[in-house]
Amino acid sequence: MNAVTFQYINDLADQVILEYDISIPILDIDGVVQRIGGKVEEKADLDILYDGRVRKDGAASFCIEVATYLSPRRRTFTIAHELGHLFLHMGYRTNWKRWMEMDDAVYMPFGVSMQEDQASEFAAALLMPRDQLGGAIEKHTHGDSVDMTEVAKCLHVSPAAAINRGRLLGYL
Ligand SMILES: [Zn+2]
Repeated sequence: MNAVTFQYINDLADQVILEYDISIPILDIDGVVQRIGGKVEEKADLDILYDGRVRKDGAASFCIEVATYLSPRRRTFTIAHELGHLFLHMGYRTNWKRWMEMDDAVYMPFGVSMQEDQASEFAAALLMPRDQLGGAIEKHTHGDSVDMTEVAKCLHVSPAAAINRGRLLGYL
């Protein structure tokens, strides 16, 4: 992903946090979805190829389906990833023309791999804003080592996701 796209996605996530008054860490992602104007549905029979998917649900709403077998943190990340598709690729409240052209009946399970990376970057930026991640890392640095398990717990994400973002932002 180039630097311009990275910055755009991170700015967009910051804007969403501000606009919808989302508090970090996100412990209630369903409440966040509701505030943004959509709903989450649990699906026991989602294809094993994907954990979640999103579709338009009328002119002003959307529906995210999520598999029932996910751990709480993975479920949160999955839903945040679908929010990435919603804002970045479906145009919800970002590109009116594209949003109006979206078909209600069509789910967005996964796009091309570039879109998958972008949706995951949005999820990481939404769940781990730069300052909050930096603060958590500072708090859990002891001598030369950082306890990333604790950092991940602070932000309600998996250790792998926290390490990934910590490196990307230059904290690790
Ligand atoms: Zn996706």
